[in-house]
Amino acid sequence: MKVLAPEMYEVVIGLEVHAELLTQSKMFCGCANQPNATPNSNVCPVCLGLPGALPVINQRAVELTALTGLALNCSISEFTRFDRKNYFYPDLMKGYQISQYQHPIAHDGWIEIEYDGRIQRIGIRRVHLEEDTAKLFHRVDPTTGRPYSLVDVNRGGVPLIEIVSEPDIHSAEQARLYLQALRTIVQYLGVSTGNMEEGSFRCDANVSVRPVGSTELGTKVEVKNMNSFRAVFRALEYEAERQIKAIANGEPLTQETRGWDESRGITVGQRSKESAHDYRYFPEPDLPPLSLAPSWVASIRQQMPELPAARRQRFETQYGLSPYDAEVLTTTRATADYYEATVKLFDRPKQVANWLTGELFRLLNASNLEIGQSKVSPAGVADLLQLIEKGVISGRAAKDVFEEMFRTGESANRIIEAKGLTQISDAAALDRLVDEAIAANPKSVADYKSGKAQAIGFLVGQVMKASRGKANPGVVNDLLRAKLDQTG
Ligand code: ADP
Ligand code: MG
Ligand code: ZN
Repeated sequence: MKVLAPEMYEVVIGLEVHAELLTQSKMFCGCANQPNATPNSNVCPVCLGLPGALPVINQRAVELTALTGLALNCSISEFTRFDRKNYFYPDLMKGYQISQYQHPIAHDGWIEIEYDGRIQRIGIRRVHLEEDTAKLFHRVDPTTGRPYSLVDVNRGGVPLIEIVSEPDIHSAEQARLYLQALRTIVQYLGVSTGNMEEGSFRCDANVSVRPVGSTELGTKVEVKNMNSFRAVFRALEYEAERQIKAIANGEPLTQETRGWDESRGITVGQRSKESAHDYRYFPEPDLPPLSLAPSWVASIRQQMPELPAARRQRFETQYGLSPYDAEVLTTTRATADYYEATVKLFDRPKQVANWLTGELFRLLNASNLEIGQSKVSPAGVADLLQLIEKGVISGRAAKDVFEEMFRTGESANRIIEAKGLTQISDAAALDRLVDEAIAANPKSVADYKSGKAQAIGFLVGQVMKASRGKANPGVVNDLLRAKLDQTG
């Protein structure tokens, strides 16, 4: 047995990502693009693949694909067309999928990820447009034990883009960063929800290994069936190690498709190159080719919103945020919008950032909610921060108030009123409590007077306790000093 160290191998990964487009209607018919509606409620002769039905290109889908291509620094093809990809499977009634082969809408771009403290470019080979397939549900009849399958065609014919990377990725972690960057971009563009768990954003991974220093590509394995970022990460780690071990043991690797088995944490062989499909691509005769004029491309470019990297940069300069805060606050467009809406109402950018990344994110995580589902609006956060600033409540009490706001959607003012949490900042109201603390703690008073300045902290604590946390500690501190220094 040859024993070879893993560090003698380089992992090579290229990703194929599919994203469902957020159009009103499907790719080639007028059916609503609502894959999760009541099964088979959004279907027609075109997307059911009935003989004689003719497809019509969804213009918005072409625009969104070009927009995505531009955001990924691609060139947009002046000539583009659709092709038939022939295969026979029950998720495709027609017996072929309308896709793009030789002339994708966009090609030769790149995106940047930050890995190991430096910026790295991952090449984008192509972005093309196709139709999604129907959904199959595999069941077993409980009485007979016989397997059967159900078909829901709502998803059949939904516009789908495929984004194919160059084999520029060299670790599972890089793949995760690339996927996250890509998902953030499609979300910012509003072209896709990017939701991986729901299957609106899917990833197939091509993996090979080669000796370090070699420039030739090794035999690749295509891994499918990963339903989360974590699954992609685990599948890639597993597959790279499996291939390196195989080579070390002198076992030949075969070009094949493998499926990720989430529960077992392994990839399992599905089909080899010999049994691979021959798709017999040919130009789709029922659709005209498209010529995308430079002026049309320019008009698409004008629809480009601010992209995540630019927004992150702007958050650092405009609001003085740390790179970390700028990063987490721009991870989704919804978060960035929420942040900016709050700052508009309460102009203390760093305090807002601290409150959102600390309190709000903690509560969202704990209840597994997205920011869009938060019952507290930016105005609600701004109100609360204002109340802290004015000294109406303490920062400590504000955290409890915020939890209540988050839970019930009630306003800060009403919660503070109902709980009697209003901070006591009025010196006259605190006077008695301060006198009592001085009278009850002669030792601390003596310590303070003998020059131990920190003894005052204990006295402040006593007043806070007596006020059940409602006293304004700053005011208490001033009062104590005034009294002790005066009697000094
Ligand atoms: P296919 O025609 O089988 O889909 P392609 O050559 O078009 O294969 O590449 C598909 C994806 O696989 C791309 O993302 C590409 O970067 C990646 N890829 C190609 N060859 C390799 C390899 N040897 N190792 C890893 N990834 C690869
Ligand atoms: Mg492929
Ligand atoms: Zn239809």
